Amino acid sequence: MSEVVECPQCGATTQNSSRTCLYCKAEFFVTSVAYLASFDTTGIQKYLKHYLKLTKISPDNVECRIGLALCYVQQGLYSQALKEFKIIIDESPDIGLSYYYKSLSIIAGRRVMSLNLKEVREIEENIRHATALDGLKPQYQLLLAIIKHDYYLTNGMKICPPTYSEILNEINWKNLDVNETTRLKQSLKVPDFKIFNI
Ligand SMILES: [Zn+2]
Repeated sequence: MSEVVECPQCGATTQNSSRTCLYCKAEFFVTSVAYLASFDTTGIQKYLKHYLKLTKISPDNVECRIGLALCYVQQGLYSQALKEFKIIIDESPDIGLSYYYKSLSIIAGRRVMSLNLKEVREIEENIRHATALDGLKPQYQLLLAIIKHDYYLTNGMKICPPTYSEILNEINWKNLDVNETTRLKQSLKVPDFKIFNI
């Protein structure tokens, strides 16, 4: 792991091997969009700059590259995010969140109905990978339910079980982070999110 020498948020000099800033409490390694959502655009820009610098110094550092990719997702820069997640999955195929956020980066704000079959197949494969690695996370299941409804059902295609309503019934809603829901809703379009209880 490369050593962080300066806090990405407040600029304080930090000790080697620490993971949180002693002064402002910012995490040095961002591992979720939910965490990034607590920062405004300026804070996310600071993280982005920080990770761009670190990935240049240590291109093989996966933690830094995930941080960079998540900053791109949170800013809606999907083509850049997609490029980073491809590298991450090639080099570290065992990180579940990469497959989920890569899927959001493929959709890139479009209406799910208008995706092509090849993209949908890849997204379904990604959700399978993410679930195999992380278990049934509510945001993974939600994305699958949305695909089943807005792609397969709306386009009048044959649906392999489970159906979208069966998936929704299985979701543990208590475990759904509101920031993950917001990010999901910003990453794709459907006519009505209420169908999916979000
Ligand atoms: Zn700090």
